[in-house]
Amino acid sequence: MELPVINHPDYVAKINDDNKFPIKKFGALAKYLLKIGVVKKFHIPKECSFETLKTSHSEEYINHIKNKTLDIRSQKRIGFPINDSVVKRSFVATGGTVLASKLALDTKLACNTAGGSHHATFDSGAGYCVFNDVAVAANYLKNKGYAKKILIIDLDVHQGNGNSEIFKNDKDVLTFSMHCASNYPAKKSKSDIDIELKDNMEDNEYLNILNKSLKELNNNTYDFIFYVAGVDIHHEDRLGKLKVTDEGINKRDQIVIENFYSKNIPLCGVLGGGYNKSFDKLIELHSMLHKNCSRYF
Ligand SMILES: [Zn+2]
Repeated sequence: MELPVINHPDYVAKINDDNKFPIKKFGALAKYLLKIGVVKKFHIPKECSFETLKTSHSEEYINHIKNKTLDIRSQKRIGFPINDSVVKRSFVATGGTVLASKLALDTKLACNTAGGSHHATFDSGAGYCVFNDVAVAANYLKNKGYAKKILIIDLDVHQGNGNSEIFKNDKDVLTFSMHCASNYPAKKSKSDIDIELKDNMEDNEYLNILNKSLKELNNNTYDFIFYVAGVDIHHEDRLGKLKVTDEGINKRDQIVIENFYSKNIPLCGVLGGGYNKSFDKLIELHSMLHKNCSRYF
């Protein structure tokens, strides 16, 4: 058996080359995971259904995306033009996280090669996020009765404000976000637990805070974990303001995965952000999530 990893060619949406978002990373990551032997065959997701999306987004917003009728101002907030290819990608990448979460119920670990669109809220997108895949998948598991208590552990350098908003009145989904205080979004929302990090933080301090936080999180019981493994905490990231090294990110992933695997709690890993100055480095950093999960198979 191998780690279930989800990918779809349509993850690579067609947007202009001058867009700052490294959209080609989804295809390059898939290629790299095959090359290094972490994956032999990807699981191919379907587009997320309207019914499943509706658990976390307003019908009006979903229709605006589906029919490409979102106003220009809202498109600008997202950062992508809402064209056919971006629409397709938004539905299929959300379907990917739903599929990964379903597979993780059996295999304990499963990963998407996209996902972690944590700035999308109930009725809007923002910061390169159209649909909030993790929120949709968490609500899917809850509604199907597959999980009661869910933890979203978000270690992207940016706050997971979309998840905090969507689950602010839901006691069964705990939102944990550890992010750089001075990074986007300027106006943070309130997660169940927010850990704000100061600029330029390095490996030791970062990992100490992570270990301490996990100890506290371990006081509660969960039956499912979503892990947003953003690599924009890296010292050469274009958007992040932290100074974590390759080894720091590798350790971080190992610590999180082992913490929950050892307790027999299923974990679904999603990519989160990454905007490294070097494209090859970016792919290597994102692959650490899948590499570290695959060790258990
Ligand atoms: Zn980010």
